[in-house]
Amino acid sequence: MSANLYELFASRFPPDRTRTFIETPEGRVLSYADMERVVGRLTRLLQEVGVGPGERVAIQVEKSPEALLVYLASLRAGAICLPLNTAYTAHEIAYFLGDAEPKLFICDPAREAAFAERARESGVAEILTLDGEGRGSLTERAQTLDPDAGCHAAEGDDIAAILYTSGTTGRSKGAMLSHDNLASNALTLHDLWGFTPNDVLLHALPIFHLHGLFVATNCVLVNGTGMIFLRRFEPRRIMAELPRATVMMGVPTFYSRLLAEPDFGRDQCHGIRLFISGSAPLLEDTFQAFEARTGHRILERYGMSETSMNSSNPLKGERVPGTVGLPLPGVDLRITDDAGKELPPGKTGTIEVRGPNVFKGYWRMPEKTAEEIRPNGFFVTGDLGLIDDHGYVRIVGRAKDLIISGGFNVYPKEVEQIIDSLEGIAECAVIGVPHPDFGEAVVTVAVLEKNTNKPPQEYDLIEKTKENLANFKVPKRVFFVDELPRNAMGKVQKNLLRETYGQTFSPNGV
Ligand code: AMP
Repeated sequence: MSANLYELFASRFPPDRTRTFIETPEGRVLSYADMERVVGRLTRLLQEVGVGPGERVAIQVEKSPEALLVYLASLRAGAICLPLNTAYTAHEIAYFLGDAEPKLFICDPAREAAFAERARESGVAEILTLDGEGRGSLTERAQTLDPDAGCHAAEGDDIAAILYTSGTTGRSKGAMLSHDNLASNALTLHDLWGFTPNDVLLHALPIFHLHGLFVATNCVLVNGTGMIFLRRFEPRRIMAELPRATVMMGVPTFYSRLLAEPDFGRDQCHGIRLFISGSAPLLEDTFQAFEARTGHRILERYGMSETSMNSSNPLKGERVPGTVGLPLPGVDLRITDDAGKELPPGKTGTIEVRGPNVFKGYWRMPEKTAEEIRPNGFFVTGDLGLIDDHGYVRIVGRAKDLIISGGFNVYPKEVEQIIDSLEGIAECAVIGVPHPDFGEAVVTVAVLEKNTNKPPQEYDLIEKTKENLANFKVPKRVFFVDELPRNAMGKVQKNLLRETYGQTFSPNGV
């Protein structure tokens, strides 16, 4: 067996290939046998259009079973899969095509014409189409091909996928993940989260991101079981499908939106053994409300495009809200100061990780790679956190999130937790904005709870925060909004908030 991730999956497919791999609420069912056949044909198609080992296959399409099978075919062909967020504009796509120079670009039929010229300019040899129903030139051409396509004998360090990092401003960086990176993480999570042959995963995440593509799907594939595949997250649809599932993975907004449904509760969750959350911080309030409503303690874990998963709360031990649990087996996780020196438990610094999960570097950016992966193999995540006395990791913010006000460091997370806990507040985001006196000032953007009798005013929140925090951490202004801007993975887009409120203390005001 080579180190090709597809071979690992195939070695764990169920002996009875009539078992379900994917089913959709629209009534589509793909068995393991169906999946193997279609993946074989798609692999052939990739080979036919000239996608050789190491060449890139870029894909920006609506979620569908076929889109997921392209990922598997790309592994089998030894190609590098490059999933792209469906929200990217033509302008952004032009950058990714130019940077990654894929041989093949798969896009929605409706966008083919708009992309054709740019794709040609970037040296794309072939554009194929695929819509949300699994129709398009991709599946039409694959239909008649021989499914017996073989599997490329990959080395463990060969690149299986490139994920462009989300949520950052400036030039996106392509994180290169090897077959071994993905295999080690899939096997570790599979064991840690106790998957069994009876599991059915409810899959409502996008598949252009690590969470839905690797964490969720790869666990199912190494488990050889099935999943209920939803196009997107819709609370009512989730509630209808939950009773047939045993595991759900979601971003924190999944959980808060489910809680916003008055009739969501134990009734739908009786078959579930595990709810997992990640990609953005899960509010302690949400954790508690979810437990009160369903009896389930959500398991929170932590990872990123460059490393897949790094830490997780335990399946059997104590799941501590507000933490992302313990480092995964085989993953070294440490906290360092500005000089790169390791800090003791309880001290806040930069989170660094090392292990078989850590990526091979940024695509065509050797300097960036050298800046972020130390010679001793530790990757500098850019997240700030600490390890508590029990070994649990707590994330307190992003390095670039850090606010320095009057020379003092303010970790937004600390202020957010205080304000989130105040009566009448649903959630908030804390940002730093330029201030003539302090350099930066702390500003809070808050969402009020619906139906509160006495909504708190700006003055109240400031006074209440003062009771808990040193003055330099107290927001100088509080703005109220209906909802916080979030990206597709549920992360609050603080860069947008900084743009909106950046002029608060300039002579001309907001
Ligand atoms: P991405 O590469 O888009 O998956 O973003 C990774 C980033 O998401 C990490 O560096 C963290 O800042 C954040 N993140 C992921 N999981 C969590 C979590 N459970 N709690 C807090 N932040 C998280």
